[in-house]
Amino acid sequence: MQTAQSLTSMSGLPRLEARMLLEMVLCKPREWLLAHDTDPIAPEAAAQFLTLAAQRRQGTPVAHLVGHREFMGHRLSVSAEVLIPRPETELLVEMALQSLPDGAGLSLLDLGTGSGAVAISVALARPTVRVVATDLSETALALAQKNAQQLEARVQFSQGSWYEALPAEGRFDVIVSNPPYIAHSDPHLSRGDLRFEPVGALTDGADGLSALRHIIAGASQHLIAGGWLWLEHGYAQGEEVAHLLLRAGFNAVQTKQDLAGLPRITGGSL
Ligand code: GLN
Repeated sequence: MQTAQSLTSMSGLPRLEARMLLEMVLCKPREWLLAHDTDPIAPEAAAQFLTLAAQRRQGTPVAHLVGHREFMGHRLSVSAEVLIPRPETELLVEMALQSLPDGAGLSLLDLGTGSGAVAISVALARPTVRVVATDLSETALALAQKNAQQLEARVQFSQGSWYEALPAEGRFDVIVSNPPYIAHSDPHLSRGDLRFEPVGALTDGADGLSALRHIIAGASQHLIAGGWLWLEHGYAQGEEVAHLLLRAGFNAVQTKQDLAGLPRITGGSL
């Protein structure tokens, strides 16, 4: 009879990944697994685990196999229709929260919300703020809506391309976005998890800056005076994004580094 221990070593996966798959197959939390490392595992569960392990070895992201990913301490459902939430994007949420005290009458716009990770995290941390989230993809919005319901976050979703998803009137205190910013020619698109993620969430099909340029250019029509815009971007795009913000009339323009020490989030106030 196989055990968690023997299956983990048979799987050929890093221990943490094997554990995540075992947790799902056995419907047990991490603590249980650690304490029952050598308990016998039913043959059907063992077989199911080995099938998932084989898919993982072939590259399928762990988040797709287990169906969820943690972000800001929240469990978000993910699918192949949305970008898998990444740890560096938590910094985008933190900057948004720094620019946004909790207060009725305040509002935040998340452009291209995907799984809803950023909008939902802000809504949960600032329950009285009005949070609006957009996406071009109906399937992404349906998933984001499901995530918001599951986590009891109050977010208003709207379908459309960037600002086109919004009604003409009404301005926001803060706008955030993690748009597709990888250049079309970047070899990373054909490596790792990115091969399994929606291409439209990763690249603009051009130099990687076109969505960022578009969002910056339109921001003044949708922000209040003194409002903040915070953007996630590629590690080599910080200076260009800062420059675009300055040219669009933003003040206090600043770039923040992610956990890997790379320039990742740039913002400014109008
Ligand atoms: N941060 C992602 C990556 O480099 C890209 C996300 C994006 O394009 N917005 O894997």
